[in-house]
Amino acid sequence: MKTIPFDINKLVRPNVAKLKPYSSARDEFKDFDAEMVFIDANENPFSSDVNRYPDPQQVRLKSELAGQKNVRVENILLGNGSDEVLDLLYRAFCEPAQDNILTLPPTYGMYKVLAEVNNVENREILLSKDFQPRVEEVLEKVDDHSRIIFLCSPNNPTGNSFSEGHVKALLESFNGLVVVDEAYIDFSDKESWLSRLDIYPNLVVTQTLSKAYGLAGIRLGICYASPQIIAVLNKIKPPYNINELTQRRALERLRETDVIFYEIHSIKEQKEELFKSLLQVNFVEEVYPSDANFILARVDDANKRYGQLVEKGIVVRNRTTQPLCKNCLRFTVGTPGENEKLIKTLNLL
Ligand SMILES: *Cc1c(COP(=O)(O)O)cnc(C)c1O
Repeated sequence: MKTIPFDINKLVRPNVAKLKPYSSARDEFKDFDAEMVFIDANENPFSSDVNRYPDPQQVRLKSELAGQKNVRVENILLGNGSDEVLDLLYRAFCEPAQDNILTLPPTYGMYKVLAEVNNVENREILLSKDFQPRVEEVLEKVDDHSRIIFLCSPNNPTGNSFSEGHVKALLESFNGLVVVDEAYIDFSDKESWLSRLDIYPNLVVTQTLSKAYGLAGIRLGICYASPQIIAVLNKIKPPYNINELTQRRALERLRETDVIFYEIHSIKEQKEELFKSLLQVNFVEEVYPSDANFILARVDDANKRYGQLVEKGIVVRNRTTQPLCKNCLRFTVGTPGENEKLIKTLNLL
């Protein structure tokens, strides 16, 4: 394929380029001064702690993230989970019934679902047998209407990270966006792609507070990209997509760095234990190395073992229908007690 230089203006959907974003009542008054009287947004004036609309730009939360991750506030967009971030990417850059995106199964199921929801063609190029991107095959499928390549690293459900060279090759040969979904990066010893945002204008990194940070319930996903890409997404995001309770709770949690460090460390230790124990189970045929907080393992008969585990009160993820994952089950690392129960149960099946 030909590589023309990356040009964000050629990538944005014309209707998005044209639109004037909704201006929320409070946009012009970013400093919530106690002396001000706010009678501009039809809120209930009696204080309930959350009677006011939340900050539409989440300035405090983004500043904390920017400091911790060594990026600028202009590099950040927050979403109601990374799922909202991914959806915004489709809506900003993919013209329905015309453009296409590329995904590399087996991988996170939402890329495909969102392609269907947004009526965008999903071109699938299977990972290699060792779960790495087949760069040449991917680039062969690219055409003038290809807008986004979704890479998930560490990958769900396989657990491995994509080699740096492969990701780099895609970033350098594709003039659409390359999204690196780093939902599991905090469990990995590999370096995040975040530090290379300034090198690659087409790089988008997504992260989440749903996994390592233990906040799946508050829904907070993070998108890191160039200020130009972030500005486009900002135009189309719902004004109050991150609610007040989520903003507060996320900020609180981000500052508990010791606790987070301890929990991640403990989960990684438990993962090593679980890995060794799974290898000993007599019907487990292969256990795949993992940079995430789960382990994929191939068993003799995934449907049978899945059913047996449910009967014993343990729910795992059956991935047997996914390409390259025949008879594979995915086990999330639980508490030490839960992992022990899992291993005991497996050994008695
Ligand atoms: C769990 C997961 C997410 C998280 O999505 P949220 O909407 O932020 O909870 C994103 N990407 C992958 C690959 C995941 O496995």
